[in-house]
Amino acid sequence: MSKIKGAVVVNTERCKGCNLCVVACPTQTLALTTNEVNHKGYAYCYEAQPDTCIGCSSCAIVCPDGCITVYKKGSAPVRKTTEKYESTAQPIPNPQVEDTHESEVLLMKGNEAIAHAAIRCGCDGYFGYPITPQSEVLETLAELKPWETTGMVVLQAESEVASINMLYGGGGSGKRVMTSSSSVGIALMQEGISYMAGAEVPGLLVNVQRGGPGLGTIQPSQSDYNQATRGGGNGDYNVIVLAPNSVQEMADFVDLGFNLAFKYRNPVMILSDGVIGQMMEKVVLPPYKARRTEEEIAKECPWAANGHGLKKRGVNVITSLELDPANMETHNLHLQEKYQQVKDNEVRYEADGCEDIDYLIVAFGSAARISQKAISIAQEQGMKVGLFRPITLWPFPEKEIREMCQHVKGILTVEINAGQMVFDVRAAVEGRVPVHHFGRLGGIVPDPDEIVGALRKLEAETK
Ligand code: SF4
Ligand code: SF4
Repeated sequence: MSKIKGAVVVNTERCKGCNLCVVACPTQTLALTTNEVNHKGYAYCYEAQPDTCIGCSSCAIVCPDGCITVYKKGSAPVRKTTEKYESTAQPIPNPQVEDTHESEVLLMKGNEAIAHAAIRCGCDGYFGYPITPQSEVLETLAELKPWETTGMVVLQAESEVASINMLYGGGGSGKRVMTSSSSVGIALMQEGISYMAGAEVPGLLVNVQRGGPGLGTIQPSQSDYNQATRGGGNGDYNVIVLAPNSVQEMADFVDLGFNLAFKYRNPVMILSDGVIGQMMEKVVLPPYKARRTEEEIAKECPWAANGHGLKKRGVNVITSLELDPANMETHNLHLQEKYQQVKDNEVRYEADGCEDIDYLIVAFGSAARISQKAISIAQEQGMKVGLFRPITLWPFPEKEIREMCQHVKGILTVEINAGQMVFDVRAAVEGRVPVHHFGRLGGIVPDPDEIVGALRKLEAETK
């Protein structure tokens, strides 16, 4: 039996030779090259003693550039780990072939998880334009080259406006298509999103938020809450909004997003932020799912303008234009009925430690992660606090928050913005208890101690 318990794959071209992984490794597995450099001119990390690796992941955790992927024994692809690798990308098996990587635990950034999950979920096409802090989505797809395996199209469009209109075309033909961008880029897409909602075209959007307004900053923010949950463009419509708080949820919400998009023929947005997009965590990627065949699309999407089945049905027209106001009102009423169905059936949330509490923190995404730490500090100080995390920001879990507010003295919303979700919480609570907001702006994330301070202010007001 081999002594090897782990193996690492290093993205040698990305490595900057900082030596942190070499120092962090408890088994002296790693070393920097002494006679070779990568294309940036850096000595790079490699497995000098591959047999000693115990798969502890310390190297991957300390690497500031996410260059290292650790494989546990039994899941490691057979590779010579001392040879040069172009990327950390895993080989993509043929979806028709048995998937041996289903339960493999990997370490990667949230943005990378989105890209991996897209390929695994049978995505037909990605159209996007690079912008910090989400560029790794497109970069990872380019590294993985899914067009050579699953046939998924990956295209860097000339702009965000082009990207969203490619989504309109792809979704209109029944394809699983997606884009990703950050805040200001998503703002540019709003016309197309409104067209898609009006024409009932499914599509998946990922917004890895950065601070605004305008070009703002490249640091994390949650200041697109209003833009995402109020439609964002013109007209009466809603986008289904999912808010991940981990790399795992970044991966999980891709398939969920596609399923909701097609179930309701509506755009779905994964509203992430620079923290979740850039942080590295363990993730189990979803199993591979083959892309749908043209016949399956024709069957599942009888509304699609895909050029198939014309002998069996009439011509399908995808448009949001209707010049007859009576017809337009009828269409709007139909959309409103659909949105009500979404509200009735698709609310998702997580309530953590919400029994026998005095105060409730309501937070989503990365703010919820930070709030967990704040809650444990507050509990150590004797406060009784729980966390309510909306997972769907639209539809918003208003009934659940209304129910919960009956049992607490006050609510604190923690957001990385000037106070946006707080209005939805106040609307749900209907004045029953005080609702405070705490947030930081400009790309600064809240500190857990600051949140505890805000809880203390709420406590002082409600004692
Ligand atoms: S996984 Fe652990 S033992 Fe293996 S190379 Fe990395 S730090 Fe060393
Ligand atoms: S920590 Fe990352 S960047 Fe630094 S030497 Fe190791 S692999 Fe390279």
